[in-house]
Amino acid sequence: MEQYKGKSIFSKTTMGKIFFYEKKASVVTREKITNPQSEIERVDAARKIAIDQLSCLYEKAVKEVGESGAAIFEAHQMILDDIDYCESIHTMIRQEHVNGEYAVAVTGDNFSQMFASMDNDYMRERAADVKDISERVIRILCGQEKNRNELKEPVILVADDLAPSETVQMDKTKLLGFITEHGSSNSHTAILARTMGIPAVIGVPIKREWDHKMAIIDGYQGKVIIDPDEEQVAKAKAQIEEQENRDQLLKKLKGQKTVTKSGKEIKLYANIGSVSDTADALLNDAEGIGLFRSEFLYLEASDYPTEEEQFQAYKVVAQNMAGKKVIIRTLDIGADKKVDYFGLDHEENPAMGYRAIRICLTRQEIFKTQLRAILRASAFGNIGIMFPMIISVDEVIRSKALLEEVKEELKAMDIACGDVEVGVMIETPAAVMISESLAKEVDFFSIGTNDLTQYTLAIDRQNLKLDEFYDAHHPAVLEMIRMTIENGHKGGVWVGICGELGADMELTEQFVKMGVDELSVSPSFILPIREMIRNVE
Ligand code: PEP
Ligand code: MG
Repeated sequence: MEQYKGKSIFSKTTMGKIFFYEKKASVVTREKITNPQSEIERVDAARKIAIDQLSCLYEKAVKEVGESGAAIFEAHQMILDDIDYCESIHTMIRQEHVNGEYAVAVTGDNFSQMFASMDNDYMRERAADVKDISERVIRILCGQEKNRNELKEPVILVADDLAPSETVQMDKTKLLGFITEHGSSNSHTAILARTMGIPAVIGVPIKREWDHKMAIIDGYQGKVIIDPDEEQVAKAKAQIEEQENRDQLLKKLKGQKTVTKSGKEIKLYANIGSVSDTADALLNDAEGIGLFRSEFLYLEASDYPTEEEQFQAYKVVAQNMAGKKVIIRTLDIGADKKVDYFGLDHEENPAMGYRAIRICLTRQEIFKTQLRAILRASAFGNIGIMFPMIISVDEVIRSKALLEEVKEELKAMDIACGDVEVGVMIETPAAVMISESLAKEVDFFSIGTNDLTQYTLAIDRQNLKLDEFYDAHHPAVLEMIRMTIENGHKGGVWVGICGELGADMELTEQFVKMGVDELSVSPSFILPIREMIRNVE
């Protein structure tokens, strides 16, 4: 048994026989030709065939992963028609009297090197695209194009790297998953794998001798096991069975409304902590994002994330959710979420200490940078914003004033913003008790039951020793939730639950009866809860 840790592209488990995929790179030799014009015509004819093939691939990809996922094949067609690219090939043939295969290979290498040396991550990744399309033209010129990607049985594909065209061409019913040594999690191959729901791990030192061996891909942990033992096989089988049950549920419930038998609709949103979690949210048919824990952007960084970095992250989520609501919770750093570069003092009681909105209101530059990034991203989707750990109306007024200040600054710079709903998290008993007044200031409430339980029961949510005292269904907490919903509705705001209790199916019916408008839960809970709600009277 061998075990490796890589970078997971898609959180799913799979098990099967390995097929070691070796690219048969066409061997290109430099040859002298006598008729440059007919050689140029031969290359152009091959380019034309390649463009037609890519157009078919585009159609296939649109069906499998939608237009945005398929867009890469349109971009490939454009590169093949690019004037500089074509000119370079033609000039080489004309001036050096070399064969087409050689001219395409050299041009492909040159362009690829040029992209690879660029500063911008996106452009750097285009280097692989130029190589991919040049290889395609060369294969056509050499007459080697047929059936290279045909899989005979369901396999886990192991390869040095995979091009997007290779990924999409493979028969998805036979591609259990893939393991590669190279590639990046932002590459188009990774994006396609994610969209197609193929478990994949990259960054694994692959070996030729694995061919035909059994393997497990644990996409949840980015783990790869070659030649697994019985216990590992049993565990993977159980995980796969659970996934299959969920997939069945997905088939049945995807696209269905989250509505009770009597017709009350509940918004069923997902909680996410990073941009890549959006894939899970979409896969599980989330109707929106009810809690984007934005502090994870700060936790993953070694210094304050810039406005631009944050803007890009929020924009991608907003665009991926395509008009569905995306609620970004402003920075909730402190307590258990510590970041060195914030230079926070040691505290005896951090859960009740300098955290979340308390940091934001006293270190306003950090807060304003985040607000600017969120507002800029709001021009690209349907963004909402909510403030954590609120205990007073004054905090909401001050937070909203800063939001307005940033809005005005952006307006003065002619930077577009969308309409942004503003809400607060109700996660302190104080917020519950003044919820009637808070409702006058906001558009929505989102109840953070994790902290609300901790502060209501005076039980540290981090302390395992207190487990026996921790009653998730404590009547005091349930009464706080009921009261918040009632006060929110009195004040004309919608009320959701984004803490873990929102996914507790023993309480779903009770929450619906209390009048909850939204539940925001981990993506994997969405469909089981939808099924539950559809059975509530
Ligand atoms: C909560 O407190 O319920 C909540 C959703 O926020 P977090 O768990 O991030 O503190
Ligand atoms: Mg909280």
